[in-house]
Amino acid sequence: MSLKGRCLSSGLATHLDNLSLINMTIESSPIFTPAAEELWAIIPSSYRKHLLSNVWCSNCRINVSISNFSGVVKDGDLLLVGLCSECRGDVARVVEPLSAADVR
Ligand SMILES: [Zn+2]
Repeated sequence: MSLKGRCLSSGLATHLDNLSLINMTIESSPIFTPAAEELWAIIPSSYRKHLLSNVWCSNCRINVSISNFSGVVKDGDLLLVGLCSECRGDVARVVEPLSAADVR
């Protein structure tokens, strides 16, 4: 009985995971690699907002908000890549571990 219960609950969990994955795609929530997610997780949410709304767009020549972004780790730094909220061009922002530590 306990085995059956476990099967049911794990089946449900998988189902929910799939649902949230679909929702993530529709709402274009951030997609991070596991390593990037680790770095992102230690950043305070207020600083995250600051980072996401202060991304330099070389096309607009202003700081813009990044949208449809994803996170990867490059050379030990967290790199956010996404689209400019103004011109929809590609933008990227490096989040140095040092600056994340500064606000911790
Ligand atoms: Zn732009």
